[in-house]
Amino acid sequence: MTVSLYGMTLAELETWLVAKGEPKYRALQIYTWLYQKRITSVQQMTNLPKALRDRLAYETTMETMEEVTRQVAKDGTIKFLFALHDGTTIETVIMRHDYGNSVCVSTQVGCKMGCEFCASTLGGLIRNLAVSEIVEQLVVCQHLLDKTNERVSSVVLMGSGEPLDNYDASLKFVDIVTESEGLRIGQRHITVSTVGLVPAIYRLADELRGITLAVSLHAGDDDTRGRMMPVNKAYDIATLLEACHYYYDKTGRRLTFEYALIRDHNDHLEDAQKLATLLSTLPCHVNIIPVNYVPERNLTRTSKNQIQAFVQHLQHLGINATVRREMGGDIAAACGQLRAEHSRESV
Ligand code: SF4
Repeated sequence: MTVSLYGMTLAELETWLVAKGEPKYRALQIYTWLYQKRITSVQQMTNLPKALRDRLAYETTMETMEEVTRQVAKDGTIKFLFALHDGTTIETVIMRHDYGNSVCVSTQVGCKMGCEFCASTLGGLIRNLAVSEIVEQLVVCQHLLDKTNERVSSVVLMGSGEPLDNYDASLKFVDIVTESEGLRIGQRHITVSTVGLVPAIYRLADELRGITLAVSLHAGDDDTRGRMMPVNKAYDIATLLEACHYYYDKTGRRLTFEYALIRDHNDHLEDAQKLATLLSTLPCHVNIIPVNYVPERNLTRTSKNQIQAFVQHLQHLGINATVRREMGGDIAAACGQLRAEHSRESV
């Protein structure tokens, strides 16, 4: 059985090599080739004996995804659709900011969470991604950026899927990409997004990671949130916020709350008022994300004036809130749109 080189932490690679009768120090050499020299074939690992390179070529895999499409927006956002070994597809996005390049990775094929405004969930959950498939998304993006001498400076686990529903793979991904001998992404530059899976938030808090937790709240009351997000039936807002306070108390990390603004669903000033009341005692930042038109769900975008009014009202109430800069407005940039378009074309 083959294993993916991108699916192992440095310690795991050492153990794997030792079990094969190879010296432990080879793991560091391989890691350096993979993540610092960023080669694309084991035969390029020229300081390894030929026999080990052949063994790696036979017993391990590296890149397993195929690029199906790539869209480049006017603002530099690059959106990939990748086909995995079983023919399923996922999206990965490179976003350009003043402070560097951020990559948004997927953690599942499809998603079972059923959020009203999201195209990724339309076909349900197909499967969890293996950790190697999450790491590989980042590696492919870094390979592209290498051509212009650029680096991935931050990562968001915010593509298709609920990262905390694929908890072990998502957290091992964090371990691999933060490895000091690897890609060296700082924990503080990693954001894990969640719909609010409360037990997983407690677990993450207890692991004391330095990552940022971004919680999709999207409403200031249970009725509205319940209509938008089925997960609210399992964990209502009060239960979720209790877990968020615990996360802050344990880690000292300010939370981010995502708020997808949808016309006439949750974009009135009284919604802002409810949100401000809920968050008044929790150090946090609110990201307002005006939702693009989702043809399958018939959702429409909030007007520019109303977006401004909503944010200003929050700020006036003492909440640190900003509108997320729209990335790749001229391409299918909303979560799951490219994959949904691809499957529409394929039928
Ligand atoms: S927004 Fe995220 S959690 Fe919700 S359905 Fe889409 S992919 Fe899943």
